Amino acid sequence: AVDVKSLAKFYGAHQVLFDVSLSVAAGEKIVICGPSGSGKSTLIRCLNKLEDHQAGTIRMLGTELNEDLANINEIRRDVGMVFQHFNLFPHLTVLENCVLAPMLVRRQDRRTAEEQAMLYLERVRIPQKAGSYPGELSGGQQQRVAIARALCMRPEIMLFDEPTSALDPEMISEVLDVMIELAQDGMTMLCVTHEMGFARKVADRVVFMDKGRIVEEAAPSDFFDNPRHERSKLFLSQIL
Ligand code: ATP
Ligand code: MG
Repeated sequence: AVDVKSLAKFYGAHQVLFDVSLSVAAGEKIVICGPSGSGKSTLIRCLNKLEDHQAGTIRMLGTELNEDLANINEIRRDVGMVFQHFNLFPHLTVLENCVLAPMLVRRQDRRTAEEQAMLYLERVRIPQKAGSYPGELSGGQQQRVAIARALCMRPEIMLFDEPTSALDPEMISEVLDVMIELAQDGMTMLCVTHEMGFARKVADRVVFMDKGRIVEEAAPSDFFDNPRHERSKLFLSQIL
């Protein structure tokens, strides 16, 4: 589903990703972790071309990401993304947030889009908030709407960038529960998160990044119980 080879990314003269290679098969769940500034968000953002890369190749669902605008839109249609700060449209209701892209991009009629949106809002357990505005919801509820909104596009891959790190502690598990269900349904997922319980439960592999490189890639049990690299050990000692 995802094939990254020797990726390099610069911001101006400043290189932030070095020789990153990563393959993710359909249905696999990858957790990406690492210290602040290690390039996790940059990597995720390159995968749906929110950022350009300068060297290496990225293939998403068989399509190479290049400058061709048509295929960028194709990729964004099939690759859902959920950010740390929910990024809902504040002036639209929850339901409107969910139907916008399916109607504009997938050309669904309003009725079909709304029916489908309600199914996903039920799945994230807030159908009763369909008529509310984002500002009227808690952080955990907003994040669940953001997940439902992404799912309404029926993506084949879901990218998460620290979806729970802006939430109050009591709301973290309600979002993680939704992500766990999504994982159990077989979604291909790349999640930047430091939620190690989640990683242990659903990740097929943990990818540890430091200073723009993948330092270690391992099954969660190996990574947490038996990290091989000094930098992984140091990181784990700081977060656990
Ligand atoms: P965090 O855990 O704090 O979210 P991260 O691992 O997601 O960190 P990135 O946000 O990918 O790290 O940043 C990697 C590097 O790229 C950092 O040195 C950062 O300062 C730099 N960087 C990120 N975005 C930009 C930008 N738009 N312009 C210039 N430099 C940037
Ligand atoms: Mg980040």
